[in-house]
Amino acid sequence: MEPCSLCGGEMEEKEVEVIKKAGEKVVVVKDVPAWVCKQCGERYYSIDTVERINEMVREVGEEKVKMQRIFAGELNFKAAMPG
Ligand SMILES: [Zn+2]
Repeated sequence: MEPCSLCGGEMEEKEVEVIKKAGEKVVVVKDVPAWVCKQCGERYYSIDTVERINEMVREVGEEKVKMQRIFAGELNFKAAMPG
């Protein structure tokens, strides 16, 4: 694996969580294989992985797959800004 294209840092192979929106639903995909930069945390996925994630999110949108329910909260970055 080549070094991080953002900072030149060393990459390590990890399983990560990817958060996506399918319409109004928030989908958390767990155990996604990725290369993660040890220095800046940038993530890189293979094309196959990206396609599979998009496919899963689409299936959730079409209600073809059942999701496990988790607690979720939402924060608005701008609303939390002072002034
Ligand atoms: Zn980096």
